Amino acid sequence: MSDQPGPPSSTSLAQCVVLDGIAGSPGYAIGRTVVVDTRRQGGARRHIPKHAADDEVDRFTRAVEFAARELREVEERTRERATRLESSILAAYLLMVEDETLRDEVERRIRIDHLCAEWALSATVEEMASQLRSGGDPYLAERSHDFEFVGDRILGALSGRASILALPGDKAPCVIVAHDLSPTETVGLTRDRVLGIVTEVGTRTSHTAILARALEIPAVVGVAGLLGRVGDGDVVAVDGVHGRIVVNPFAELMAEHEGRSQRFQAAVLARQKLRDRPIITRCGVPIELRANIELPSEAEVALSQGARGIGLYRTEFLYVDRSSPPTEDEHYETYRRVIEAVMPLPVTLRTFDIGGDKFVSSLQLPIDMNPALGLRAVRLGLARPELLLTQLRAMIRASAHGPLRVMVPMIASIGELRAVRALFERARQEVDAAGHARAPHIPLGMMVEVPSAAIMAHEFAREAEFMSIGTNDLVQYALAVDRSSPELAYLASFFDPAILRLIAGVVRAGADYQRPVTLCGAMASDQLASVLLLGLGLRELSMEASAIPAIREAIAEVTLAEAADVSREAAALVTASEVERCLLDRFAERLDID
Ligand code: PEP
Ligand code: MG
Repeated sequence: MSDQPGPPSSTSLAQCVVLDGIAGSPGYAIGRTVVVDTRRQGGARRHIPKHAADDEVDRFTRAVEFAARELREVEERTRERATRLESSILAAYLLMVEDETLRDEVERRIRIDHLCAEWALSATVEEMASQLRSGGDPYLAERSHDFEFVGDRILGALSGRASILALPGDKAPCVIVAHDLSPTETVGLTRDRVLGIVTEVGTRTSHTAILARALEIPAVVGVAGLLGRVGDGDVVAVDGVHGRIVVNPFAELMAEHEGRSQRFQAAVLARQKLRDRPIITRCGVPIELRANIELPSEAEVALSQGARGIGLYRTEFLYVDRSSPPTEDEHYETYRRVIEAVMPLPVTLRTFDIGGDKFVSSLQLPIDMNPALGLRAVRLGLARPELLLTQLRAMIRASAHGPLRVMVPMIASIGELRAVRALFERARQEVDAAGHARAPHIPLGMMVEVPSAAIMAHEFAREAEFMSIGTNDLVQYALAVDRSSPELAYLASFFDPAILRLIAGVVRAGADYQRPVTLCGAMASDQLASVLLLGLGLRELSMEASAIPAIREAIAEVTLAEAADVSREAAALVTASEVERCLLDRFAERLDID
């Protein structure tokens, strides 16, 4: 992090500061910030003198009014496009915000226990939520999360910080500054309201970054000390290409930023013009580049970038921002929309990967000590088979509308794969019994993202119909590095020789059993890495749509013989930086990488 005090600009007397982070989503943005502190801290905890009780109760009442107003505004703003379910959730939140029991109890704690409003509120919400949870009624237990959500809204109002819900729909678009954003918060963002995103934690493969790239919003993540340096209403220039922000830039820096932004836009447009050209290596071999998507609306964006279908649809985003899981029909309609948008190109639907850093409150997941090692993805699906069956039935029905494959995340043992296959078979029978149409055969494959699956790749290849290597998690688990830790980002390299060996083993297993193998982690969207992957034998990659034009260019620059040659050389190296250096030495100039 480097401070760079500049001369006062004509627009602001605030200090100009440059902060370094990690490039989360490419692009440039400049705008005023809205600071969103979504950390559930429970707020301040202090005792208040007796005579301050009236003021404290007033403060609480004003916060409740603010939170209620905020919810009403959201209701109005989303009235047109909200589903009936979403509207009823908002209405329920409103009732809870204004709930008298909640108010009376908070007031009692302020007046009798002399707690400050934040403390009184969080203690009350905690108690009410735990009563709802312990009653044994699943419906009421579900409501406990709603209570917590509503409590957070009031706490946010007490601290004077904006929440994502409160982002003004009718005001100028802004740069969001936050500690982190959960899928629930990011999913509601749109490019017309949000110019850029800057977060204190996160890495290139954390979900905030993935979603920002999907939405094509420039983002810098992992900016240490961000919330201590940036305030509401500061002007921030976001450089999502180099992973840097400038707070309150002075005129020269603004102009420099503007120039880079224009060059970036021109390059993006030039690349998009190539979208319909075949994707081939310099020696003429076709390579399939598909897109990773999180939201159905991205399917069209993917095509506009030249994607040859969807290689990974992360369906877990369907589960966030709602108080109950989607119904079979909702799943089906969503998948159908994606399939029809890209027809006749293929779509790979991944069953939900909930848990880990993709937390969905409505499912009441247990709190694991190590969430990434806990009840996540297929483990959750097998523990709650009714959830997985609903999704599988919908996927099977959607197969009637175009080429479709189903992929299972986080498979760690053959037993899990077999158990999913049995559920898949049951779902197929139920779809048939209900008289729905479907494709005669739907390939069922797996992600290889847990080291055990890569080590046993041959055994898995015998049973899975295709395999897709998820390097984001493979790196996390093989190198024991939390994927959202900026401090450990230096260790979490997909160029690590251990990762290259695991990938090579999976590719060999696929070839031995004639199973298609693809790779869908962030490694696929790195130009140098893409060359290495061709050399390792991969002919299909899936990545965020915006990376496709650059990867197409890299592929067009190299022959398979060159790629194989560099991957052989890399195989003899022992550190990630040696591998990267070797690739840079050979290809940096040709690929125009500095
Ligand atoms: C991966 O782990 O590489 C992957 C593609 O899945 P996700 O990023 O959704 O965990
Ligand atoms: Mg993964």
